[in-house]
Amino acid sequence: DASILHPKTTGNGRLLGGLLVEGFDQKSCHSRYQSAVYRRNPGRKPSQYLVSKLRSQEALQRRCGPGTAAYTNALEQLKSGKSLASPECRYLVSISYRGLGNRIIAAASEFLYALLTDRVFLVDPNTSMDELFCEPFLNTSWLVPPGFPLGYRAFYLSTPERYGKMREDGVLRTDQMNGSAASGDLPAFAYIHLDYNQTDHDKLFFCDDDQRLLSNIQWLLIRSDSYIAPGLFLVEAFREELDMLFPERDAVFHHLGRYLFHPTNDVWGLITRYHDAHFAWAQRVVGIQVRVFPWRSESPEILKQIKACTQNERLLPAVLGEEEEEPVVKTTASPSGAKPTAVLITSLKAWYHDKMKGMYWERATANGEVVVFGQPSHEEIQRYGVKSHEHKAWAEMYLLSMADTLVTTGESTFGYVAHGLAGMRPWVLDMGMINSTVGWPCSRDMSMEPCFHIAPTKDCKRREDAGKIVPHVRHCKDRPTGLKLV
Ligand code: GDP
Repeated sequence: DASILHPKTTGNGRLLGGLLVEGFDQKSCHSRYQSAVYRRNPGRKPSQYLVSKLRSQEALQRRCGPGTAAYTNALEQLKSGKSLASPECRYLVSISYRGLGNRIIAAASEFLYALLTDRVFLVDPNTSMDELFCEPFLNTSWLVPPGFPLGYRAFYLSTPERYGKMREDGVLRTDQMNGSAASGDLPAFAYIHLDYNQTDHDKLFFCDDDQRLLSNIQWLLIRSDSYIAPGLFLVEAFREELDMLFPERDAVFHHLGRYLFHPTNDVWGLITRYHDAHFAWAQRVVGIQVRVFPWRSESPEILKQIKACTQNERLLPAVLGEEEEEPVVKTTASPSGAKPTAVLITSLKAWYHDKMKGMYWERATANGEVVVFGQPSHEEIQRYGVKSHEHKAWAEMYLLSMADTLVTTGESTFGYVAHGLAGMRPWVLDMGMINSTVGWPCSRDMSMEPCFHIAPTKDCKRREDAGKIVPHVRHCKDRPTGLKLV
């Protein structure tokens, strides 16, 4: 297949088909150039158009980013409160919040928005982005430097500069830019609020007319914990460019995630040590993400579901003597010289791993295959902003992405990151993160893309179901109101 990357260390594989550039200091971020060596599945090749677009974005980041005269001028403009008619550079500042999976998918899709609108992409440094990820842009920084004039204001629903509010109150109108209205009438910045409690006016962000208006505002701040990319595919003005950037629509996060998110050396240490101890010798690696909430007790039903999913779908061999009271000590000849299968389980709890591991130790497998289980950590509770906890979470998402086969939990952004980086369609456990109805053990996802959970429900013009407008934007299986690229 022409779109599959050639693996390993050769120039193009090492740089992920041109997604990455040479020139970074290797020691300060080992993962950047080493990741290809560790991946069992090399992943997809980016289009040449995406590669060249990334090179121009990097040039833009260097020309306009922190430390440049253009950036200083833009800050002055921001302080003045008014937008210039044709500013030298325009900016998108991403406010990141919530769990790490949310932060990663949100940042990747906001970066896509920056690419589409020729904006410099900057991230709010408050959520230890620099401790988790290496700098993605050569010779510049994606972190908003200290002293940002808007300070660390809590941008939220009541912010007067919220885009949806300014549209609702008529402070901003989409006819404003037509005719002779000067953009001096436009504010220097707008705050885009795409949290779960967004209003219908905030949702106008995904409409063509509003995108035209927004393109005249020099600074945009955006708060979202969602993967907004499918919404951008609904904007007509972006479609042609998106088609050229991503001839394979299901690989948007795959490419942008691999481009942006390189684990820092501390996290890379966690990843490579686990890899060398648990994956390096294995015939194949099966990753199973068991997303459970700290307050829920261990569930025998979920355990049964994991077993049924992995065995029915033949991801793991069946075990013998299941029906009997006492475990049967029965040995089947293992396939000659076959190496064991490694299973990586990630979860906040140890129980699921311990039960699966016990089962495969106490009973022989039907085909003689040896299955070895491992779980890097069981943190028990979720914590935000605790360094060692987040390092482990990032390392585990990444380790999952190195497996040959993936089973993830529906609706979990942690799992989305893993299968997106991997470039694999996972088997999804339908565990009902939100409701607890379990329909079937698992099913294969439609694509490797994350689901946009808080998506627009209708398109802007015809007010039709947003999941029926373009063929490659569909409702998600795991979150039927969400949208997903397929
Ligand atoms: P989501 O809530 O499943 O969509 O995923 P998020 O990553 O956004 O938030 C869940 C957070 O809980 C993670 O970022 C971790 O901090 C923690 N967490 C959940 N599951 C695991 C796990 O399997 N391993 C580790 N180390 N942390 C986890």
